[in-house]
Amino acid sequence: MAHTAKCKRCSSAQVVLISRKEPFCAECFCKFISLKQRKQMMSDPYFQDIFKVMYQDKVKSAEEAEKLNAESKVLVPLSLGSSSIVMLDVLNSTLAEQLETHRGKAGFHVDILVCYFEKERRDIEERLTSLFNGRLRKNKHHYKVHLVDINAFFDSSKLMRVHLQDSNYVVRYSDASSDHRADYTVDELLGTCSNRSAREDLLNVIRTATIKLFASHGSYKAVLWGHSMTRLADEIISLVVKGRASQIASSMDDTSFDETFQSSFKNLHPMRDVLLSEIDAYCHIFDLTQYTYHYTPQDTLLVERSTIPVVTGSKLTRNMTINELARQYFDNIEGNYSNVISTVVRTGAKLDDPKNNLPTVSRCRVCNNKLFKDGSEWLRQITVNHSHPIENEEDQTLYDAWTESELGKIRGEYLKLTAEMEQNGKTLSTCYGCILTLGEVRHKNVYWPESPPNLLRDALEEFVLTDDEEE
Ligand SMILES: [Zn+2]
Ligand SMILES: [Zn+2]
Repeated sequence: MAHTAKCKRCSSAQVVLISRKEPFCAECFCKFISLKQRKQMMSDPYFQDIFKVMYQDKVKSAEEAEKLNAESKVLVPLSLGSSSIVMLDVLNSTLAEQLETHRGKAGFHVDILVCYFEKERRDIEERLTSLFNGRLRKNKHHYKVHLVDINAFFDSSKLMRVHLQDSNYVVRYSDASSDHRADYTVDELLGTCSNRSAREDLLNVIRTATIKLFASHGSYKAVLWGHSMTRLADEIISLVVKGRASQIASSMDDTSFDETFQSSFKNLHPMRDVLLSEIDAYCHIFDLTQYTYHYTPQDTLLVERSTIPVVTGSKLTRNMTINELARQYFDNIEGNYSNVISTVVRTGAKLDDPKNNLPTVSRCRVCNNKLFKDGSEWLRQITVNHSHPIENEEDQTLYDAWTESELGKIRGEYLKLTAEMEQNGKTLSTCYGCILTLGEVRHKNVYWPESPPNLLRDALEEFVLTDDEEE
């Protein structure tokens, strides 16, 4: 029986899970995961300077060392999935160790950012309160928690109307002030998407921008993303499918400063060597499953698995988004073919930006990624968009009937809008991926911030951690 065996690493404690064909006890597994994360956190001098405790030495005075410690602020976007919670847990044990061995000193400060939809707010606050009064209790006063309403993305900036003309793939924008859309929300935008992939794509653009703008405005040194190796692999494959392959290099880049909003922080993916199944197992072993939200950690690696099957909200394949399909694929191969996952991630990390075929360096005005090619031009070359002309009376009758139908009316409205934008709009530089997504939105029309929103000014609330009674 596997579960009566002893752990190979310490040869004393009982085996609780098997990963990468090796049996682990709880403590050795915790060390195994922590070491993988800490290795990334010490991967280059920039991150070493952030995470190490600084002292006076030949080049810096005691005050300077103190200042460096105080300025080493990192931002942790917390989705309350298993990965970001485990990453925070390992970060917390690093912090606890420093505070103990350096007598109350720490080399870095962690701020936590949670983006939420109004309807989720109470549940999220409940999870955060129990996390900080539970597992993170001992050092909870070392954390600052910020909550940002996802709608701040639209609230704190002037909006423009963005429109795609589908006959030539030209994207135009115009001033939206006469549309009186001060009440435009992310929910409303997502409600106009014709499929879940477009929804997910736009939400991802909004979330990423919100986090990066927050990091940029708040002078953080680094953003720590909780992506597991599995999640990075599905991200890479999904980017290819969504026509966003040119973003792979920058999304995996942990060495350069983030350029999206002329920022002064670097991105770090400390969990890039850890499989999702390992993170989920960590959640089960250290009782973190109670804090996850909209996610159920799997117990596939555990020696003693729950007898109740874990419900994972199975969906019909045709309703799944591109990311969900990629995730399902990698979930299924994790057990026996986990080397495929690490190959995808290693290959993705080796990619460089594509050659720039444009006369200047420019960015997509929707997703803010770098542009390397004229997406509209490319689409015009590879598609035929002219319909067959009406030739006889029968054609004309059919065409008239269609014009009167629901679809025909929607098309009519769309063409009216297109004519208006052709006249009054200006061309908007847009990447290939965003052109495809705009094609999946009602009337191929959205509202979007004209310039990056000022999130710190409007949307920011610091979440005050309440103490529970029994203290
Ligand atoms: Zn052990
Ligand atoms: Zn774009």
